[in-house]
Amino acid sequence: MDCLFCKIASGAIPVTRLYEDELVLAFPDINPQAPVHVLLIPKQHHTSLAHTSATDAPLLGQLLVAANLVAQQQGLENGFRTVINTGDDGGQTVPHLHLHILGKRHMAWPPG
Ligand code: AMP
Ligand code: ZN
Repeated sequence: MDCLFCKIASGAIPVTRLYEDELVLAFPDINPQAPVHVLLIPKQHHTSLAHTSATDAPLLGQLLVAANLVAQQQGLENGFRTVINTGDDGGQTVPHLHLHILGKRHMAWPPG
């Protein structure tokens, strides 16, 4: 499949692998929106959160567990933001489920 994040997961496109387990992989965002901006992806292809179902609960749980591990590893004791953009209205540009972890700057809510 011609999917950028599948190629990153397989190692075909090299990235700095910040965290990795059986199910998920974390690497730096190429266009960071904060001093720390990490992407966390399932190694298995899912087009978006909207393309998952109840059988994916262990994977989706592990995404959040790993997000917290990455936040600790990156020194985000002061807090961080997690974002999952889904589909066109959600602003998703890469059609492989991913979770953004942003930190080391204060982020307003609601986002501007
Ligand atoms: P989204 O808009 O939620 O789909 O986020 C896609 C993210 O992937 C953006 O923040 C991009 O900067 C990031 N991105 C695109 N290509 C790469 C790449 N080769 N390596 C790391 N991050 C990437
Ligand atoms: Zn993929």
